[in-house]
Amino acid sequence: MSSQRVEAAIEVIRSSGGRATVDRRAVIEVLDGNPDHLTADEVADAVRASHPDVNLATIYRTLELLERLELAFHVHLGHGPSRWHLAGEVHHHLVCERCGSVVEVPDATFDPLRRQLLDATGFAVDPHHFSLVGRCADCVERDRTR
Ligand SMILES: [Zn+2]
Ligand SMILES: [Zn+2]
Ligand SMILES: [Zn+2]
Repeated sequence: MSSQRVEAAIEVIRSSGGRATVDRRAVIEVLDGNPDHLTADEVADAVRASHPDVNLATIYRTLELLERLELAFHVHLGHGPSRWHLAGEVHHHLVCERCGSVVEVPDATFDPLRRQLLDATGFAVDPHHFSLVGRCADCVERDRTR
């Protein structure tokens, strides 16, 4: 199975002078097939389920390459290892500290804050790399009715 996103990413690697190896394609396919937020180890497990001979270092290096080419990126969802995403629509993450659920919100949500901070401090904030933590709607409700 190969989606347009996978082919587009392969094309970017090629035009940057890189080789579109089976290993690299496998990593991109795993990211493309998992809208969830996988850690590098989870990506490695998934790649090796179909390509058992790919070594770990290659998978990590591929993730770094994808990030350099802005094809994928990592985010920090609270404590623990960072998690990987294929680039696409930029979104931000709200992480519930109670149950660990992740809510994704569109980039535009942060526009007013971004503008305000830029005006006030000249600082161009990137709220994408790290998530905001708090309590999800369910956990707020559970606390309220306790
Ligand atoms: Zn980071
Ligand atoms: Zn929650
Ligand atoms: Zn996400």
